[in-house]
Amino acid sequence: MAATRLADLGEFGLIGRIRERFRAPEGVTGIGDDCAVIPQRSGRDTLVSTDMLIEGTHFLRGDIPPYRLGWKSAAVNLSDIAAMGGRPTATFLSVALPADLEAGWMEAFLRGYAELSERFGAALLGGDTTASPDRICINVAVLGECPSRTARLRSTARPGDLICVTGCLGDSAGGLKAILEGVERDADVQALIDRHYLPLPRVEEGLRLAATPGVHAMMDISDGIGSDLLHILDASGAGAVVDVPSLPISAALQRVCRRQGWDAAALAAGGGEDYELLFTCTPEAEQALDVPYFVIGEMTAQGGLQGLEGLSGFDHFRKP
Ligand code: ADP
Ligand code: MG
Repeated sequence: MAATRLADLGEFGLIGRIRERFRAPEGVTGIGDDCAVIPQRSGRDTLVSTDMLIEGTHFLRGDIPPYRLGWKSAAVNLSDIAAMGGRPTATFLSVALPADLEAGWMEAFLRGYAELSERFGAALLGGDTTASPDRICINVAVLGECPSRTARLRSTARPGDLICVTGCLGDSAGGLKAILEGVERDADVQALIDRHYLPLPRVEEGLRLAATPGVHAMMDISDGIGSDLLHILDASGAGAVVDVPSLPISAALQRVCRRQGWDAAALAAGGGEDYELLFTCTPEAEQALDVPYFVIGEMTAQGGLQGLEGLSGFDHFRKP
């Protein structure tokens, strides 16, 4: 352990060690899903998740307007409630800010945060405020709820299930690439950048999916399906085959990729932060789905992920 660096262990290696050390109590779903699921005597389960956004790692202060950062900070957290099929109820916002930050920056941040969290009925109930030597650090904790034992976990996919997503993949990664490479912002490029900065958590879709019998495993797409689907495979002890030509790619992303010579399939499979839902369901349940969806593959009894070779997702400690 002494000589092992985090880059060798990887983000998920580290989380695995934390998980081994801290076991969840009986009946509680702890580390390993989009939210913790805590049963209440009321017959409802409480959902809790937290996510951090660090300047220089998740955003560049000069690139993202503060309104959009506020929106996104709320959105990525609400998305984890959506991923369980729950309804968001409250958020807590903690910020570490450099003393020379203009006050107007925080006002715009809060407008974006309020806009998104109020749209989904999540009240801001607390947080923490502190000084940071230079970088802006934002941490949001979110609470939600669902009827007992209805939360959709990552561990309940079964062989033979269809693998589906609720919307187009790769737009957010395309938008980020356009920002980083300074691509000229026509309407298509702007649409991708908007999807990167203003993701809409699929809360209503998650609620409907959780109410549909035969919908088994569910999670949100934050790191890219190449990485996120592996979590469903690991947790469910099953395998999957993904059909890359079936990955839904927006017309805007297709046009921008053609023009820039980018690989749209690689962005769709390996790019993160789309915040669509990834779920599995029985072939019979497909008729009953009342959300937009695209079938991208199938769960298999044999382990391993086939079809996405070489198109992996994001790991915070791994070097590219
Ligand atoms: P998501 O992308 O859905 O936010 P992550 O990939 O960040 O999920 O985390 C995976 C799981 O590991 C989650 O259940 C999360 O709560 C847990 N986790 C991540 N970091 C820590 C940590 N430092 N301590 C305890 N649990 C953690
Ligand atoms: Mg998640």
